[in-house]
Amino acid sequence: MKKIHVGTGKPYDIIIERGIIKNAADYIRPLTKAVRAVIVSDSNVAPIYADTVKKSLQDSGFETSVFVFDAGEQSKRISTIEKMYTHFYEHNITRTDIAVALGGGVTGDMTGFAAASYLRGIDFVQIPTSLLSQVDSSVGGKTGVDLPAGKNLVGAFHQPVTVLIDPDTLDTLPEKFRTDGMGEVVKYGCIRSLPLFEKLENENAWDIIDDIIYECVSIKRDVVERDERDTGERAILNFGHTFGHAIEKLGNYTEMTHGCAVAAGAAMLTGITEEKGLTEAGTAERLKNVLKKYGLPIAVDYSLSEIISATRGDKKSSGKGISFIFLKKIGECYINKIATEDIRAFFGVN
Ligand code: MG
Repeated sequence: MKKIHVGTGKPYDIIIERGIIKNAADYIRPLTKAVRAVIVSDSNVAPIYADTVKKSLQDSGFETSVFVFDAGEQSKRISTIEKMYTHFYEHNITRTDIAVALGGGVTGDMTGFAAASYLRGIDFVQIPTSLLSQVDSSVGGKTGVDLPAGKNLVGAFHQPVTVLIDPDTLDTLPEKFRTDGMGEVVKYGCIRSLPLFEKLENENAWDIIDDIIYECVSIKRDVVERDERDTGERAILNFGHTFGHAIEKLGNYTEMTHGCAVAAGAAMLTGITEEKGLTEAGTAERLKNVLKKYGLPIAVDYSLSEIISATRGDKKSSGKGISFIFLKKIGECYINKIATEDIRAFFGVN
């Protein structure tokens, strides 16, 4: 068992342990006075794991219900949240009861947002079952939903009471989503850890995935502790994301998964910054080789001009510019804010 303590305003522990899903309630029961627990899951994950978590909660004395929504990013919207609230109401969820997010990033983000807002806030637990949610989205308290105009445009900061990570759940994860999560894993090596990046280069990450998850979560914890509300350093977690979000948007959020879009965005951006002499020579090639090794894309069919246009409205824009994350070299990055009127010239497109 590995434990990572997160010292945010409301502190909590992240537990990484194989098989933990079977005795999830052992970790949840001491943290809450809840009478009822509502499990939120999607149509892919619920049939595999909901009964296991439900049994654990019931054995610990919780009255338990399960809310299931259709799997996929297209469900990550206000209308699903409204159905979730209705389920909470019909199952008598009170302010001292608890929600349990069981699934990937969409499930965690939406359950967290519903928990942040229902009755002005109830506790929730994250049980992330995809690699992407285990290394990234379940940690740090960002919750929310998409609007037609863009991803995650409505949300709240709401830290979970605990995050329970069971690497065994990755065994049932479709190949596409295993690859997807690896995009964020590579990101952590790039921005903060040469040793992690070298592990990804020299070993097969899937053989040592428990350690990889631990290292990624530790990096995210360090960053989130110093900048819980995302006003400064936390922006570095967005390496590859400004282009990535634009690529996702150009594909109507259906052509490319998040981790793949981030990978392609990171590779493209680093190619450009290296050419400009802002990144150590050889970095882009090393990055591209690792991305290819794990089945991730390093380029897309959209032109740079199209991608730049689609960055308009990115959440990372503030005031009159966008904060891009550039690599100095593998394991080191910095924030570079570019004024809106200078962006096209900077990237050499008109
Ligand atoms: Mg991401």
